[in-house]
Amino acid sequence: MKEYNPVTAEVIDALKAVVGDKYVKTDADVLDVYKSDESLAPSFWKTPEVVVLPANTQEVSEIMKIANRFDVPVTPRSAGTSVSCGAVPAYKGIVLLMERMNHIIELNEDGMYMTVEAGVRTIDIQNAAHEKGLLYAGDPCSSDSCLIGGNLATNAGGNKAVRYGTTRHQVYSIEAVLPTGKIVNLGATLKKCSTGFCLDQLIIGSEGTLGIITKATLKLVPLPPYKLDVLAVFTDLAKATALVPKLIKAGLNPTSVEFMDNNFVRSASDYSDLKLPHYEDGCYDIISIETFNEDELDDKMEKLAAVCEECGATDIVEADDRVWKVRRNCLESTRVFSKVATSEDLVVPVTKIADCIQTLVKESQNYDFRVFCLAHAGDGNLHFQILKCDMSDEDWEKQLKEFRAKAYKYVYGLGGRLSGEHGIGLKRLKYMEEYTDPAELDLMKTIKRAVDPKWILNPGKVIEEN
Ligand SMILES: Cc1cc2nc3c(=O)[nH]c(=O)nc-3n(C[C@H](O)[C@H](O)[C@H](O)COP(=O)(O)OP(=O)(O)OC[C@H]3O[C@@H](n4cnc5c(N)ncnc54)[C@H](O)[C@@H]3O)c2cc1C
Repeated sequence: MKEYNPVTAEVIDALKAVVGDKYVKTDADVLDVYKSDESLAPSFWKTPEVVVLPANTQEVSEIMKIANRFDVPVTPRSAGTSVSCGAVPAYKGIVLLMERMNHIIELNEDGMYMTVEAGVRTIDIQNAAHEKGLLYAGDPCSSDSCLIGGNLATNAGGNKAVRYGTTRHQVYSIEAVLPTGKIVNLGATLKKCSTGFCLDQLIIGSEGTLGIITKATLKLVPLPPYKLDVLAVFTDLAKATALVPKLIKAGLNPTSVEFMDNNFVRSASDYSDLKLPHYEDGCYDIISIETFNEDELDDKMEKLAAVCEECGATDIVEADDRVWKVRRNCLESTRVFSKVATSEDLVVPVTKIADCIQTLVKESQNYDFRVFCLAHAGDGNLHFQILKCDMSDEDWEKQLKEFRAKAYKYVYGLGGRLSGEHGIGLKRLKYMEEYTDPAELDLMKTIKRAVDPKWILNPGKVIEEN
């Protein structure tokens, strides 16, 4: 494992010369804020030595050159909502905070694109598009706090990915600063392009290990005027999950298909101070359908109701804002039960999601921790929120290890992967080494060494130097 140099007074002076004294933070209370993200995994947290807030791409580039010169690691950070310890400075050093780069540069209605700096909040992008009758389709549940650069770096998914794809599908081009400080523009505002390697897509989803994304040109699409959200309630988990592949096959082209088990229904309803149908014993599927034509919506609703009934839904009601509030509060709601938790982000083929949820929920009942399950079910992406409750640290670590070994082996057997949207970060690093094909891992490391010879950008994430 590589050893980095500490951040000396000389490094601090060099950083101040680039961004100005005000934007170089070394106070202990400020540094303390940036030791963690939303991952609730204190054993991984590390306090940075300095936090720097650049104002523009040129400053980001100069910071990377300083980091290379002094051999100091840099962790890019947007809003810090990562649940994979992605924004934790694993080797201390510099945290590079993107929040000052928060301007929408252009919204082109005719061309249907928006060019933004990487520090713009996702919800501001969504709202700006909406005001013009357009849709920015990236929609992670954290959209009111996360920044677009963080979404691009993690290839965030969310509530609209069934129909529109994940963040990488919403992008025409990016500007990025490579680990050496070089500025590159990758991709183009084109419908198609077969001109060389697709390097924008390589950097998107690389979790800040291959480059710092500083700008992006995002695709916008017409906003469908007709929309209906349906809550299908089931009192049987097997039936609720079996609905998902049937819905996809029915040709309804839903925007969202979200699943919540009864643990989440109860905790998120309590947290939101709302009582929804079958609070005591219901599992939920929330399905959104959007169309450009009223008749088409009516037609799809009829078909949707028929599929839900066929699958044994106990209740089928319109899902209003209260339902989405409960859905969005799921993760937060579990924090009242435990401050130590881990969030699994497994992904399997959509045809296997029902079996996968049923098998892993059953398996999780053999352990002392509490497990809550929800899924972006239409994407085959399930989240297990595993809470440490009334257990010793030793039992927590031992049982978690045992559960993960079984769950990961099973998921890979189904053709799945460790992460559908949250990324590997620091938290899943050793599992990435264990479960990834060695040839694929070797190719990733070869690419990393080529663009980041000093392994200075976000070390300790995704892949390990060896
Ligand atoms: C309540 C809650 C709900 C969530 N719901 C979803 C969801 O529905 N879908 C989903 O995908 N995720 C979800 N997440 C996880 C998280 O919000 C996403 O991963 C999000 O994309 C992170 O954005 P951020 O701005 O907070 O980035 P950060 O957490 O700051 O960073 C995330 C990663 O990206 C890197 N990074 C940040 N900015 C840049 C940049 N400009 N250039 C290069 N690298 C960079 C960081 O080093 C880190 O590795 C949720 C989290 C919470 C707490």
